Amino acid sequence: MTARFQKTIENVAELKGFGLFTNADVRLRFYPAGENHGIVFQRTDLPGSRRIPATIEYLSPEERRTKLVRGEASVEMTEHLMAALAGLQIDNCLVQIDAPELPGCDGSALPYVEALLDAKIVTQTLKRETYIIQQSQTLQQDQTTISLAPSDSGLRLSYDLNYGNRSPIEPQVAEFVITPEIFATKIAPARTFILEQEIGYLRSKGYGQKVTLEDLLVYGQQGPIGNSLRAPNECARHKLLDCLGDLLLCGCDVQGEIRCFRSGHRQNHQLAKEIKRLKNQSSMDRAA
Ligand SMILES: [Zn+2]
Repeated sequence: MTARFQKTIENVAELKGFGLFTNADVRLRFYPAGENHGIVFQRTDLPGSRRIPATIEYLSPEERRTKLVRGEASVEMTEHLMAALAGLQIDNCLVQIDAPELPGCDGSALPYVEALLDAKIVTQTLKRETYIIQQSQTLQQDQTTISLAPSDSGLRLSYDLNYGNRSPIEPQVAEFVITPEIFATKIAPARTFILEQEIGYLRSKGYGQKVTLEDLLVYGQQGPIGNSLRAPNECARHKLLDCLGDLLLCGCDVQGEIRCFRSGHRQNHQLAKEIKRLKNQSSMDRAA
């Protein structure tokens, strides 16, 4: 795989919605950005319109989501937007928001993809950095694993979901070689999901007060409540989407095979950190 050129958008794109966790209304705007700018969030509601680069250095450990923090400024639930940018291979973009959490939309990355495609993706003149996985290795945490292996065919990503026999979510696998077309059609539409009993717990902590069945997939014992699946393995596809979004925090393309088993955001963050470490090590080796 030869390195591709960096990309940004030609026009400004806008999305409005509310945060699934914080319930806060938010207006989001994507702006074009120059080469090597990367993805940067900007909180226009804060004094000085603070900027937060979307890189692993600004990660704040939270359960069930990806939050970035720089000084007093933070941005919550970055993963679906980041997945859209990673999937469409948009490397340089300024993302302005006027609230701490990104719009939850329908729980998928599709509204972001549609807005970005409307803004027209344009190719820039510098090459995008790619880290090529050289050696097989496994990252293990609790009952989860993420394994890495070399591969010639771009980024091959798979997610093996298995919550056991008692879960209403059946065991399922999703596997794709990631391209913008595959991402937009097969992965971006997959919605986030939650068990009915978990909603009660989150609401008791003040989260998700505005959330309805249109904003995500809620699983009861018999399957999704008031909703039909967009794909039989929609949940596994969504976990893959989250992984792709979190992986972008390493700041480069990745070539190789990544296989995830039962992993979540915490393991994805470990993956992004490991890729960044390997990338830095290999550039140091080259310089030596
Ligand atoms: Zn998600």
